[in-house]
Amino acid sequence: MPSEGSLWFDSHCHIQEDPDPASTLALGIANGLGGAVLVGTTLATTQLALEVAEELRLEFRDFSLVTTGGIHPHDATEALKGDYEKFEKVVRTSSREILKGIGECGLDYFYDYSDHGSQREIFIRQIELANSTSLPLVIHTRDAWDDTFAILADHADTKLVFHCFTGGPEELDKCLEFDSVVSFSGIVTFKKSQENAAAAKKCPLSRLLVETDSPYLTPVPFRGQRNLPQYVKLVGEFIADLKGIDYESVADATFANTIRAFGI
Ligand SMILES: [Zn+2]
Repeated sequence: MPSEGSLWFDSHCHIQEDPDPASTLALGIANGLGGAVLVGTTLATTQLALEVAEELRLEFRDFSLVTTGGIHPHDATEALKGDYEKFEKVVRTSSREILKGIGECGLDYFYDYSDHGSQREIFIRQIELANSTSLPLVIHTRDAWDDTFAILADHADTKLVFHCFTGGPEELDKCLEFDSVVSFSGIVTFKKSQENAAAAKKCPLSRLLVETDSPYLTPVPFRGQRNLPQYVKLVGEFIADLKGIDYESVADATFANTIRAFGI
């Protein structure tokens, strides 16, 4: 059943870095996209997200467009050399109408672009920033579940968005023990992602978000091409098929969950 009529919310993308974000968004809107969160990963991309969102919110008035500010674990070592303080100032002085979350932040022991000590420090500082600004925290974690859960357990008050969830049912259960929502990406559509698909099937509709992480992680059948926010519906429809429910239910639930999670 097509999802005509229902709109999709891309809870995580990076189109502020596109050469022409306005065209990307216009194309999305023509293809059933009703909202997007532009996610910062450095001081520069956080500032860029704010600038792009401020401009495009005037152009696309019926579209829900917000941002987050974050320092990615890849950039933790670099950020500790001085950008972190500037980043925090940008977040604290930005419009609360536009900036709606802290992150993406977390731990990435797969690429290990920053040493683990710096990653943990930058992660913890952003958890504290999220709490002191009452904003939700967008988490990136790769090959680091144990440390991620241990750090989060020490900060139990934080509202969490597990972005680009790559785990299986076991990790899902642990995520759901927190005050959290869990966001699935195009990874769920990949053939080798059986465990991730099992988690998506299991995830309660009330805790589920969908995202593209565009321009990365293009879902089937467009793998190899540039990812676009409008492909979020391919992720959502795939999950609807896994759950054996109609597309509208997933579109409507994930849309409402994103609005609620980010306080939009
Ligand atoms: Zn991302």
